Amino acid sequence: MSAAKRAPLHALTFDVEEHFQVNAFDSSDRRARWANEASRVERNTEKLLELLDRHRYRATFFVLGWVAERHAKLIERIAAAGHEVASHGYGHELITKPSPDAFREDVRMAKKILEDVIGAPVTGYRAPTFTIMPRTRWALEVLVQEGYTWDSSVVPVVHDVYGWPGADPYLHRIDTPSGSLFELPPSTVGLPGTRARLAIGGGGHFRIYPYPLVRTLLRRIEAKDEPIVFYLHPWEIDPGQPRMQGSPLSRFRHYRNLDRVESRLERLFDDFRFTSVRELLPALVQAKQRRPDRSLTSR
Ligand SMILES: [Zn+2]
Repeated sequence: MSAAKRAPLHALTFDVEEHFQVNAFDSSDRRARWANEASRVERNTEKLLELLDRHRYRATFFVLGWVAERHAKLIERIAAAGHEVASHGYGHELITKPSPDAFREDVRMAKKILEDVIGAPVTGYRAPTFTIMPRTRWALEVLVQEGYTWDSSVVPVVHDVYGWPGADPYLHRIDTPSGSLFELPPSTVGLPGTRARLAIGGGGHFRIYPYPLVRTLLRRIEAKDEPIVFYLHPWEIDPGQPRMQGSPLSRFRHYRNLDRVESRLERLFDDFRFTSVRELLPALVQAKQRRPDRSLTSR
């Protein structure tokens, strides 16, 4: 009798930022108050670390430089527990806003702050609100020039803030004049009968859709022999966070079902196996290289 086949491994990622830094409620007024807001990121991230420890899972934490400056010990603890520390940039400005020079400064600063804290290279990046899209594709070359080797920001969907419809939904290599990097898009599934895709990789989708639907859709990705790339924010397991003013849509997206996320995560962690991108990526690249039908060149 052979041992049961081990379930496939998927990528688990967290974007470490304060609840008041999300794009939906962003404004220059609010930014001016960031330094005075009561921090909740440390407590929420600790809760995630405990949950991961209980399930013996490792994850990738895309940390904001702004957060790392103020909570260096937390970032040290993330790294010491065996998780990967990656970059979420410094100031959480959507890439559609700053100039290329300001973007370069932002990702350079974040990388340096994080590397100084953990004493190890930081090679992965995720853009604020996934804003690498056709009109900001120049950002990919800046990332290569600044020493990043992989990115997880391109979501091949139609959305009001982000999205690169038609982009390759699975791991691929993106070549720029300055070199290449790997793109590992957050998970989406194709909508039958159309070329459109539905984001299913975490965040609001994970909170708003019924869990059995999420599981069914994630199983479809697994059935294709592709890894799920799941994401969540520490504030999403914090039902007690203060409510902010914003549009009804933003409030729905941000606050819906916050009280259910922790138990849903427990179910997700029982239903699928996860690890960090750092541990998953080399095997994924090798597997694609062995299979001519799974080209790494973007389709
Ligand atoms: Zn973010």
